Amino acid sequence: IFGIDLGTTYSCIAYVNEYGVAEVVNNQDSSPVTPSVVAFEDGGAVSVGNAAKETLNSDPDNVCSTIKRQMGKRDYMFNAFGKDYSPEAISALILQKLAKDASEVLGEEVKDVVITCPAYFGLDERDATQKAGEIAGLNVLGILNEPTAAAISYGMQVENPQTIMVYDLGGGTFDVTIIKVESGKIQVVATGGDHMMGGKDWDDAIREYTINTYCAQTGESSDSVYDDSEAMGDLELRAETAKKQLTQKEKAIIKLNGEKIEISRELFDEKTRDQLESTITKTRETMANAAKKGVTAYDKILLVGGSTRMPQVMERLKQEFPNTPIEFCDPDHSVAKGAAIYGINMAAFNQSEGEEIKNNPIFKFGATQPEPLHIINVISQSIAVRLYCQDDQLHIVNQIYKDTEIPCQYELNAGTQVANQTSVNIEIFENASNDEYVEEELCKPLVDGELGPLPENLPAGAPIDVIFKIDENGLLSIDAEHKPSGATKHLEVNLQNALTQKELEEEKKKVSGLRIQ
Ligand code: ADP
Ligand code: MG
Repeated sequence: IFGIDLGTTYSCIAYVNEYGVAEVVNNQDSSPVTPSVVAFEDGGAVSVGNAAKETLNSDPDNVCSTIKRQMGKRDYMFNAFGKDYSPEAISALILQKLAKDASEVLGEEVKDVVITCPAYFGLDERDATQKAGEIAGLNVLGILNEPTAAAISYGMQVENPQTIMVYDLGGGTFDVTIIKVESGKIQVVATGGDHMMGGKDWDDAIREYTINTYCAQTGESSDSVYDDSEAMGDLELRAETAKKQLTQKEKAIIKLNGEKIEISRELFDEKTRDQLESTITKTRETMANAAKKGVTAYDKILLVGGSTRMPQVMERLKQEFPNTPIEFCDPDHSVAKGAAIYGINMAAFNQSEGEEIKNNPIFKFGATQPEPLHIINVISQSIAVRLYCQDDQLHIVNQIYKDTEIPCQYELNAGTQVANQTSVNIEIFENASNDEYVEEELCKPLVDGELGPLPENLPAGAPIDVIFKIDENGLLSIDAEHKPSGATKHLEVNLQNALTQKELEEEKKKVSGLRIQ
């Protein structure tokens, strides 16, 4: 069983070895992480990873990167050589590459996997992640939250109960999660973050600075630089390299069309201060949500994600939280490792039913006897319904608030609007708000469906109870009940943005027609 960290910019695959220790499997380039980049070539060949990333400066139009930002979006397709690929299909290619490389290195098939996703991923983004695995021909045992995975790999080393905050600044996303870890048990208390904020934005700051300086030095217009897609592709790579150099050194030099542009760490920190600050604001917000649940003291801040290597992150966090120990938690690998541990744990306890478990991996932190991990999760988005309220107006009203522990159930006591009503229109939304009433702009529509037929001859105002259930995987189901008659109705939750079975088959066909090099 393999754990896969399907990242916005880099992905990683791990397994639990014969000694019960989680280990990353290197790719064909002997690297533990693989860029989440896919490059298409004429004739059905694709490259994934480093080779694809290097194509950015020669054939940028056929290179697809940061696809994770498009997961769960219906209207996005990447077009290459006359074919459209959904985010699920592109992600499937990345998964296939990871699986293929790992199986070549280990000499065994990679089939059963746990894939991670950010805690803030909503229902349709999770569904898209699951389907990406299916398209890749993998058997997806579970979708696990990245910070939970990081906490699992960290938790293998703790003996006493702790409250930790996972600060994960990756390539395309920022995620902050407050988790209680104790022997064999992981409980998510609160989650937050910004899925449009990550190392890429730090690269962009360097890129912009480079272009501005270049234009000032040469008198060229910035439009002409931005329009040159090959130069921009090249600059994207160089900006990231320069950023990584600034982690080690005080200065870096970036070349653009033969010009050399120097940037100091100090200037870099200054240009990216607002971005860093916004991660602190999000962190404070998440802590405030945790405080509402009674969590106010922290034993540790764990740094996860490649971008936490930038010295500015540790400096700023130390300043903000002078009394809390801050530690790196294997920033690039802990998520994949945690997913592998979770996967083997799940499989062992699902199948063995008390039998002796082979290889004896340590399932419970610090314990010698294997015991199942107990993971308590929360939903990361509030769930709202459009309702006629007392002012006779339609409003979007939150029913289940974010950070509620799952599985959970909520009963909405509503009623029919008119006499002889035969059905109820149910519109469900996801949002990141903690308020009761939410503006439509802040909501993502999830479901728009008819609930019916209702029992006949109902008067206006007949009680209809709508029961929302969220299972331990964060999946939603809805039932309606007319209590006086005992009539019940189950509403299929058809996520608006999810691939249909037919589309899934089409994407499978497209992907299987490609050759990964
Ligand atoms: P994701 O999961 O979002 O893909 P990762 O956790 O793999 O992200 O982190 C990738 C990000 O970390 C990239 O933006 C990369 O440039 C950045 N990164 C990796 N190493 C360093 C470093 N030494 N210094 C600064 N940034 C780094
Ligand atoms: Mg990550």
